[in-house]
This record gives sequence, structure tokens and C-alpha cells, in this order.
Amino acid sequence: MNAARPGMRAMLDRLAGGETTAIALVRGCLDRIAALDPGLRAFLRLNPRAEEQARDADRARAEGRAGPLCGIPVAVKDNLATAGLVTTCGSALLRDFVPLRDATVVARLREAGAIVLGKTNLDEFAMGSSTENSSFGPSRNPWDPARVPGGSSGGSAVAVACGMAPAALGSETGGSVRQPAAFCGVVGVKPTYGRVSRSGLVAFGSSLDQVGLLAGSVEDAAALLAIVAGPDRDDATAVPRPVEDYASACEAGVTGLRIGLPREYLGDGLAPDIAAAAREAAGRLAAAGAEIAEVSLPHTPWAIPAYYVIATAEASSNLARFDGVRFGRRVDPGAGLQAMYRATRGDGFGPEVKRRILLGTFVLSAGYHDAYYGQALRVRALLRRDFLDLFAAGFHAVLTPTTPTPAFRLGEKVSDPLAMYLSDVYTATANLAGLPALSIPVALSGGLPVGVQVLGPDFAEAHLFRIGAALERAFGTFVPPAAA
Ligand code: GLN
Repeated sequence: MNAARPGMRAMLDRLAGGETTAIALVRGCLDRIAALDPGLRAFLRLNPRAEEQARDADRARAEGRAGPLCGIPVAVKDNLATAGLVTTCGSALLRDFVPLRDATVVARLREAGAIVLGKTNLDEFAMGSSTENSSFGPSRNPWDPARVPGGSSGGSAVAVACGMAPAALGSETGGSVRQPAAFCGVVGVKPTYGRVSRSGLVAFGSSLDQVGLLAGSVEDAAALLAIVAGPDRDDATAVPRPVEDYASACEAGVTGLRIGLPREYLGDGLAPDIAAAAREAAGRLAAAGAEIAEVSLPHTPWAIPAYYVIATAEASSNLARFDGVRFGRRVDPGAGLQAMYRATRGDGFGPEVKRRILLGTFVLSAGYHDAYYGQALRVRALLRRDFLDLFAAGFHAVLTPTTPTPAFRLGEKVSDPLAMYLSDVYTATANLAGLPALSIPVALSGGLPVGVQVLGPDFAEAHLFRIGAALERAFGTFVPPAAA
């Protein structure tokens, strides 16, 4: 753990030992934000009550009422509802939208004693891979501000990378936690579909969406998952399976784990440094006692087309609710209901969101439904079967690069949606298959972080933390020079 970027675990130890206070920790984060955020724009908004809530946390601790995260500051992606605190989804349409309640994950963090520092920047409605689709301007990569931090949870990744917050919530539909985690050099976790409640997460692709976590260390990510995971009466997809002690799993080592290295993820289009880093990571895991074997996931090449059909189809339906009636801004030219819908949506949504709604409407339309949407669902089933076959053959996980390249330059891909979509080529498979995945930085390439990811069977998060922790022991943590 780096002294310049203390983690949650270190903070909790110092709080318990009386060496620091919640108010000091929150002020420390706010000072970092004041110093670094004007150039990076991780945050869209700070919680005006953070210091008051820190004092409450200090009081609770003094009175012996400290929850497991009492006094820990966290950042929250701005597509998760926060009661009384504007939640924009990165969209002009929701510029002033104030939710009445907290998302379940936010409520669980608060009940555990954590303090929401503020809301982080994202691509509009989480659609994008760079935060350049935010209506409020992009975030920047702390390793090189001319580059993107990744997306859509780019603001959360920047905040954690720079120690503006020890941990953050993000969301994933096709890689939006792991890709920015890899670009910024932090740990990112996409839990199994159904592990974490999505109540209060603004829906994008409901069969793919999952709340994710970003932290400076594997252990912190594990501890955070244990707090937010579990069933929820407000989300029937959050399954009643016991939540494991993920933090202890970090100590378990990798002896006896069989890990596959899928060749489809190590071929065309992959930057040589990233291929080398993935092979080096596999070598270190072998040295730590894991068994590594090259494997095949043959349907991988069809993942991106299937993802961009299914995600847009679901988005076109989910985003129908933003019509000026119930949520957010209304633009009413006074010419009837249809005109109000048209003006609100025409004015409120940015170009990428409109592209997705049009694409999604098209693939669902009569005559095309089976050719596109139906076909994508069949591909999805085959992709999942690729993984299940491997797991049934005795593999505990697979290891792949998280992204084909390190962080790209701002502006490099904005006018080429296909190039932007291809940056999800290694991440979208976990969402399509519903599987858990963890990204962890393992190298630098030209001064930019490189991440690898491990994917495992449904609800095998504990294995992923075992493997992630072994990689962290081998490669250390990565702090951008600007934040050191
Ligand atoms: N980049 C992908 C997309 O644009 C994934 C987004 C996400 O995971 N929310 O759809």
C-alpha cells in the first residue's frame, strides 16, 4: 500500500487505533480533490454534507456504534441514486434530478458507516468507453491528462487512482468498471449477475447491468463487495446466496487453482506489451502454485456484435421512461404531448445515446427482430457455454488482458463509434455470460497502466480475489506520479 494513497484497510486500522478521525480522512480526500480534480474532473458534484456525516461517524465510533466501514469516504458513480443529492447519469436531461431514495448499494455503504464524498463523472447513461460522452465534459487520465481514463465509470477510476477516495462504486454493462480500472491502474470488480442489487442503478441493459467496485487494492475491493452483495427485496435478480468472506479469500493463495489462458484473447489487434504482460502474469501465477494451460473460447469473435445488439435493444426500451413526464428536464413547445416527448428527448439526449436508441429500436423492429436480436441471444448462449464447458473441465478461472491497448488519447475515437466499441472486446464477454470478473494492473507500457482480468464461474468471486491478490503480491500497486 502506498503512503500517498492510503487504502480502506489502513484507514480502518488507524480509525480503530485512534490515530485518525473520519473528519480528518474526509478532509484529506477533499484536499486531494481540490488539488487534483480541476485538471482531471473525476467528480461532477461533491456531497455538501460529507463533513457533517464524518462528524456523525466519529461520534458513532466514540459511542461504540461503529459499523464495518465507519468513517470511510467513498465515491459513487453518478448513475446510482443518492437521496437528496443530484444524480445526473452524465446527461443534460437529468441535470437537476434529485432522487428520493438511495440505491440499495449506497444505502448499504451508508449503513456500514461509509461517507459518500460525491458523485463521479461517466459517459451519458453509462454508454461509452472514455467518459467523452458525458454531457458535462470528459474526465482525464491521471497518468497522462491528454488521454482518456476509460469509461463509462471513468470518474470513479480517476478518483481511486489519485487517492481522492480509497474506493468507489461503478457500474458495468459491458466493461465499464474493468476497462477504466485498467486504464487508470486500479482494481475493478464486476460481480456475477445477481450478486449485487441493481435497485437505484439507472437501467441501461437490464440483462447485463451489474454494480461494480473500484479500489486501490484487491483486499479493499473484496471487503467492499462483502458489504454491498446479497439479496434485496427491491431487486428480484439479486439472489439469496450467502455472501462469503471475500477479504479472507485474498490470503488463500493460488495453489491448486487451474487457470486457462484463452488464445482468442491473445491474438489480432492486441498491443504487444499487453500480450507480454498477460503472459508474465500467467507465469507469476504458475510460480505461485497455479496450473496454467492454454484454452479456447471459440465464440469470442462474435461477442462485440452480440453485445451491441442486446445492449442497445435493452437501452432503447429502458430509456423510454425519459420522456419529460416523470424524470428530469421537460422541454415543452406547447404543441401537444408528442411534441413534448420529441423536444425533451431531442434536446436532452446526446448523440451516442440517440445512436443507441435508434440502433436498439431497429434491431427490435418487426421483420428484423429475429435476424438481429434473436441471433444475438443465440450467440450469447454459445458464449456462455464456452465458459461453462471450460469450468466443467476443471478450470477455476481464465486470465486475459483487460483491454487490447492502454488508454487512448482524448478525441482519438470519438468520431469512430466502431473503434470505440472495440475497446470492450475483452470485457463484454463476462457481462454477456453473466460471470464475475476482476481487473488488476500488472505493468506499465509507455508510462500507462496495463491490466489483466480473471473471469470465473457464477458466484466464484472468492477465487477471483485469491488470484487477484496473488497478482498484487507479484506486481505491487500502481500510483500515478501526479498523485504520489
Ligand atoms: N463501453 C461499453 C458501452 O459503451 C460498456 C458500457 C458499460 O459497461 N456501461 O456500452
